[in-house]
Amino acid sequence: IEKTFSIVKPDAVKRNLIGAIYQRFENAGLKIVAAKMLQLTKIQAQGFYAEHEGKPFFDELVDFMISGPVMVQVLEGEDAIVRYRELMGKTNPQEAACGTIRADFAISLRYNSVHGSDSPVSAEREIGYFFAADELC
Ligand code: ATP
Ligand code: MG
Repeated sequence: IEKTFSIVKPDAVKRNLIGAIYQRFENAGLKIVAAKMLQLTKIQAQGFYAEHEGKPFFDELVDFMISGPVMVQVLEGEDAIVRYRELMGKTNPQEAACGTIRADFAISLRYNSVHGSDSPVSAEREIGYFFAADELC
């Protein structure tokens, strides 16, 4: 059993899609084992996306991620990391397969509604970035 880290991004929270997106997680057999709503600070968002520092979209990505509250959660299940990436669909919603979260809810490449860890190393770092050990069941 594996854990992965997820964010419901500000564009989705603003459009009242938290429940619909959580339903997708649960329908796919990904159990929500920790969750909270946060307003990220600029420093927090920059640190979270440090791997993208220097890329042309970095500043706008950070501004977007602090534009309103987000939901952060830990999802658990068999092969949770890969299965959640598949459930989200490709980064660009125009390339995302039908029935994926991004195909159905995302607005654009930037406003793409959800984040998910891309590897076991990222999942561990990202879970630890937002959750203390005693917040995880
Ligand atoms: P995430 O890390 O949010 O799950 P991802 O792993 O599919 O998404 P990354 O390459 O890690 O994609 O990019 C992180 C985020 O930066 C994307 O989800 C998207 O919001 C934004 N982004 C990526 N590429 C671009 C781009 N070319 N233009 C604008 N925004 C971008
Ligand atoms: Mg990524």
